[in-house]
Amino acid sequence: MITSGCEAATSNGMSKIVIANWKMRPETLEEAEDLFRISDGAIVCPPFVYLEEFSKIKSGAILGAQDISLSDEPGQTGEISGEMLTRLRVKYVIIGHSDRRWKLGETDEIVNRKLKTALVHELMPIVCIGEKSRDTDFEIFLRNQVMSTFAGLPSEQIEKCLIVYEPVWAISTTPGAKPDTPESALESIKIIKDSLIGNWKLEIGNSPKALYGGSVDSKNVADFLKEDEISGVLVGQASLNKEEFKKILDIVSSL
Ligand code: PEP
Repeated sequence: MITSGCEAATSNGMSKIVIANWKMRPETLEEAEDLFRISDGAIVCPPFVYLEEFSKIKSGAILGAQDISLSDEPGQTGEISGEMLTRLRVKYVIIGHSDRRWKLGETDEIVNRKLKTALVHELMPIVCIGEKSRDTDFEIFLRNQVMSTFAGLPSEQIEKCLIVYEPVWAISTTPGAKPDTPESALESIKIIKDSLIGNWKLEIGNSPKALYGGSVDSKNVADFLKEDEISGVLVGQASLNKEEFKKILDIVSSL
């Protein structure tokens, strides 16, 4: 049975959740294994090609995937199904990452279908929500993205998700990126939760856990996590540097 996002992710003794999104790196299995072995307590989302090897390694890290096929229909060249992922002991899957939405043309409808498919397979969705630029319409943008991403899902399913507020302008690969401030990330998280609570009539205590992502490193991680309503962080670039990621995990373990 799928439990709540936080329950599963914090079973390793950390009170906050750390997710590593490796994107299309590292280059070799050797480097990947090295990183995986120091990632105790984190949810690690490596490229698909490393999952099989990692599923055999005894580790305190939990496996996540970066994507899932949009349905179980087998005629989808190049895709990976939910069943394949669960067979490899994958527990989490990133849904609606802005790389996929903006660089790879993933529409809201596709994101919504992938979210539903993940839930059918009892994979815990890590759902990314975030605006491209922080202009005057950002609140409307966030509310609309929440509505289309979660469309048609019952509230009990939404409560199981982990939601990551990840503004595109704060992601380290975006030109000129800088991390959000904890105060403004919190404001956005409140908008996202308010949209869910209002539209799905969620009990306030049952709203999904919300995390922050975007240029998180060892210098700023504690500032984000001092906020009660920020339940964890999604880390890209900094999760690929062994020393830096170890530092982040040590900081989070000490909170
Ligand atoms: C990401 O793209 O999911 C991410 C968190 O990236 P970074 O930490 O490098 O900004």
